[in-house]
Amino acid sequence: MAEYKSENEHRLEICEAGKWLHQKGFVAASDGNLSVRLPGKRILCTPTMMSKGMMRPDDLVITDLAGRKLEGTRNVSSEIAMHVLIYDRRPDVQSVVHAHPPTATGYAAAGLPLNKALISEVVLALGCVPLARYGTPGTPELAEALKGLVPHYDAILMANHGVVCSGATLLEAYFKMETVEHFARISLVTEVLGQQNLLSEGDVTKLMEARRKYFGMDTTPPRVMGCPTSAGPETAERVSLTKDELKRLIGEALQKS
Ligand SMILES: [Zn+2]
Repeated sequence: MAEYKSENEHRLEICEAGKWLHQKGFVAASDGNLSVRLPGKRILCTPTMMSKGMMRPDDLVITDLAGRKLEGTRNVSSEIAMHVLIYDRRPDVQSVVHAHPPTATGYAAAGLPLNKALISEVVLALGCVPLARYGTPGTPELAEALKGLVPHYDAILMANHGVVCSGATLLEAYFKMETVEHFARISLVTEVLGQQNLLSEGDVTKLMEARRKYFGMDTTPPRVMGCPTSAGPETAERVSLTKDELKRLIGEALQKS
């Protein structure tokens, strides 16, 4: 159970996390948006057309669960629909953070999900990071593209756009954004090195079980979606032969042909 915070504390925290996004280069200009679920079926979210690194608590806007403005002098972010969708589909989620961190967004622009089981802690923290198909920001098209993924994933790449993360607290959602970008950089290094040594299917299963145990995640994605992608079973039908046995087998095969 998350500790109770007043509306004012949430306002201060959103401004603080907005600064982190900006300082880390996860957003440029007025990109990105953050929100927190408030009691009384309300959402506290960042305004449109404003740097997330330069907000004051009074700049934030309160909306209802359909994203309609209830309070605030500024206008609601055009991407509020993405937040509304996530709060609607995930009663466990209390906060949503959206940004355009360059490496992860590069993957999204290349049409590549971050779905490879390369780093144990990332599998533990996120399961995997799928890629939602492209939808014009601020339109129902984008919500439609996210719909099927939101129930299963806390971090999603949006094709040709950016990343959205959710969590039980604002800090949790923000940290997931950091993990996604950090993992994207590591993945990029493996691409540069030209080699990726994926965890085995057995190792991934163990990590997914641990994830369920630690986080009580009933949102853990069904592995049938192939996310994360492992190296396959360790014992992948591997056989060992002596040189002579191999020669004999090849000889036999040649005779038959
Ligand atoms: Zn965006």
